[in-house]
Amino acid sequence: MSARPALVYLVGAGPGDPGLMTRRALELIASADVVLYDRLIPDGALAGARDDAELVYVGKAPQNNAMEQGEIEALMVERAQAGRSVVRLKGGDPFVFGRGGEEAEALAAAGIDFEIVPGVTAGVAAPAYAGIPVTHRDDASAVAFVTGHEDPEKPETALDWEALARFPGTLVLYMGVKNLPLIAERLAAAGRDASEPAAAVERGTHPGQRTVTSTLADLPDAVADAGLRAPAILLFGPVAARREAIAWLERRPLHGKRVVVTRARAQASGLAARLRELGAEVVELPAIRIQPTLDTHAVRDAVADLHTYALVCLTSPNGVHLLFEAMAAQGRDARALANATVAAIGPGTARALAAHGVIADVVPEKFVAEGLIEALEPIDVAGKPALVARAAEARDVVPEWLRDRGAEVDVVAVYETVREEPEEAAVAAAETADYVTFTSSSTVRNLVEAVGHRFPASARIVSIGPVTSEAAAEAGLEVHVEAERHDIDGLVDALVADASQYGNDRH
Ligand code: SAH
Repeated sequence: MSARPALVYLVGAGPGDPGLMTRRALELIASADVVLYDRLIPDGALAGARDDAELVYVGKAPQNNAMEQGEIEALMVERAQAGRSVVRLKGGDPFVFGRGGEEAEALAAAGIDFEIVPGVTAGVAAPAYAGIPVTHRDDASAVAFVTGHEDPEKPETALDWEALARFPGTLVLYMGVKNLPLIAERLAAAGRDASEPAAAVERGTHPGQRTVTSTLADLPDAVADAGLRAPAILLFGPVAARREAIAWLERRPLHGKRVVVTRARAQASGLAARLRELGAEVVELPAIRIQPTLDTHAVRDAVADLHTYALVCLTSPNGVHLLFEAMAAQGRDARALANATVAAIGPGTARALAAHGVIADVVPEKFVAEGLIEALEPIDVAGKPALVARAAEARDVVPEWLRDRGAEVDVVAVYETVREEPEEAAVAAAETADYVTFTSSSTVRNLVEAVGHRFPASARIVSIGPVTSEAAAEAGLEVHVEAERHDIDGLVDALVADASQYGNDRH
């Protein structure tokens, strides 16, 4: 329970792309005691909420009994009066067709203080992602936001079709898809140019955004043919024709591609973010989870003796972070490695070391165990103590080679990779994927075991390197793309090159 005075935040969550949430919105979600949220909020919008926050869905869904507006307002007031900080989270902007005005009035009437946090509204954002500027110096000096929700047959309709037809600028309609035939008819009948450029944008700024352009007269048919549904923005005005030159989303190399990321959740974000920037729709289907195994005698002994090793080999960023965690548990830091030659298997591992203040002495050009061996060749290890800190199930290539060269090798497992149970929604989304990415043998084996016959049948398989490819082959998968550089950047490059070759949009 918070000690703050009753305060409610009416917060806009933007149109759907999580990146379009404001900093203030994220800040308030992170500190709220209670979040009352609608249906049209971005994926993951609540990820930053406190674990103990009360999250209440109050939105309307087609098959769901809507919570009445009055009930929402009563709940908001009740929680605020109980001394809790309340975020009322709404799609887009709270004051643009969001009933935010009514909610603010209800709060004012109850004597509760509130703050309004504007959001990026769909009527501007969906056109923008479709390459349509709602105003333009040459052909739109004004823009009107209009609700298309009203029944145009009703005599008491609030919309003045003559005025809208005459409006000297762009018309942007919210909630109008269902009424589109009537809307187009009414506008044309009232004198709006039937050949005026028009557009409809479905799920603007979401991964599956779709856009249809046409003329005022033909938009209803075009939208019906494409099967566009709510939520969508309708737009009438010459600016709609500018999409031809300005469309940018569709030009991204992975636009329309659904790509499955199988890395452990903790590591997936970097790869997922890169793929999204390139326009892909990313499905996170983690096949594995990293389970630290720091609480073993072997790890504790190795850390206690760290300063005695002449060579310390690290074969993954996880290995690095967990080794340092084990060191911290014994009150030790990077200085424990002062006397050792430190070898990293690749640049990711080297970066992880750098984050702990250690510049790796050895980083091979080929980022596989065999590459590390080549890079270690010039180092004299005979008779010297060497430590390999790694995953329990890692290959024995490096330790065996070191032993052959006469080193006294200690191998300690600082973690094991265990199977992650897949989420149904992710498995279902993955079934129609265009690509599945594998970043290690364990992701291959565990994903195949976890999803079985629901493995995306027509997806192209992308492997980070030969060892992973071999695991895929053993699991009965055909590898279509293998990265030349065996790291995340190399994998992304290979995927993009493949997509430009097999560029057919399926979505
Ligand atoms: N307050 C919101 C609008 C709520 S009304 C805002 O400022 O954006 C709901 C309507 O908004 C939908 O029927 C649709 O017309 C529009 N809408 C919301 N999100 C959308 C999106 N991502 N793409 C296209 N239209 C969207």
